[in-house]
Amino acid sequence: MDEVLRKINLLNSHFRKLEKPEHVRLLERITKLNEEVGELCEAALVEVDDNQRKKDKKTDFDSELADVLIVTLMLSTGREKNILETVKTTLDKNIQRHNLI
Ligand SMILES: [Mg+2]
Repeated sequence: MDEVLRKINLLNSHFRKLEKPEHVRLLERITKLNEEVGELCEAALVEVDDNQRKKDKKTDFDSELADVLIVTLMLSTGREKNILETVKTTLDKNIQRHNLI
């Protein structure tokens, strides 16, 4: 995970050179995340439904899922809370809710 986060930080540093206000950057990233989720949905549909209009187009569900994770991690960079700690806390809540421990 450290290598992934290092590369996420590298990407974020690159985009920070564009000197946009943080609220603009946030809105752009949220919009990008929505775009990537749309591509993931499209890849899932193509994978399970032969009648999809883009069935001839090469799609890669796992690659699209990676795009969603990358943009999500980029969104988490510089936030007050550490995203990995928040993920752990949220996972613990879900595990307890389902009485798994
Ligand atoms: Mg994508």
